[in-house]
Parts: sequence; structure tokens; C-alpha cells
Amino acid sequence: MAHELNPRQDDTFLEIGRILHENVYLRDKKEINTPDIKIDLIKKRDGQLVVGEVKKSSRFELPAKMQLAFYLYKLKKQGIEIKGELLIPKEKKRIEVKLTHALEDRLKVAFNEIKEIIKRDRPPEPKKIRWCRNCAYKDFCWA
Ligand code: SF4
Repeated sequence: MAHELNPRQDDTFLEIGRILHENVYLRDKKEINTPDIKIDLIKKRDGQLVVGEVKKSSRFELPAKMQLAFYLYKLKKQGIEIKGELLIPKEKKRIEVKLTHALEDRLKVAFNEIKEIIKRDRPPEPKKIRWCRNCAYKDFCWA
């Protein structure tokens, strides 16, 4: 993404994500786009504002949590301290995500690792992992 290589826009899983985003939680839907973040919805729960991120399954819970933590981190930098929720309508699940110190430290480690990769002349050799099968970038790695 740093080199503006975008995933295939006709990728089935991206399409499923798009359909999900367009068709669930319509009452709360307030998509917010900034150059860094794209928030699916902001809702009020128990009098508090909550950022919601909609996912199609809990299979990728950790990356989804990190994505939401990144949004919470960016909002915190703007002076907005807010909680997050991963919403998985198909599984009727709602997972609360708080930006703890531990999660923030984890994000900072990830930022440094990403910066190291971006600085390289060549990307690291791809390694087949379980996420590859459904990854919208797979053509770049395995074509
Ligand atoms: S295809 Fe696999 S190695 Fe390549 S970007 Fe996707 S998950 Fe990473």
C-alpha cells in the first residue's frame, strides 16, 4: 500500500466485505474517511460513543483487532479517546476492543516493522501462510 500497489478490486472477499458494509447496521452507519482511516460506523452504547468495525467472520480476529486499535490510536492522537467494537453480523458477535498500553505498544512495534519493510529496495520473499488463500494481494505474491 505504501507503494500504491492496490489489491484486486474484483476480489471476491473484498466484494463480500463491501456488500456487508453496505447492508448491515444501516441505522448506525456513518462511514468516516480520513487519509489514514476508514471507519465503518460510530454508535452510542450506554451513553458512550463507540467505533464499530464490521467483519465477515471472527477467523481473522487478531488482524481485525489490530486494525481497529490503529483507528483508536489515530483518534487518540486527535484527542478523541473512544472504545471500539468488532461487529460480526453473521456470527451475531460483538467484541469490545480497548486501546490498552499493551495494545498501543504492539502497534508501535508493528509501525516500526512496516517502516523497515517500506525502506527496502525489494519486498521480503513471500511465505505461504494460511491467510494467502483469501488475500486480495495474492496475485502480487504468487502470480
Ligand atoms: S498472499 Fe500471503 S504473503 Fe502475499 S500479501 Fe497476502 S497474506 Fe501476505
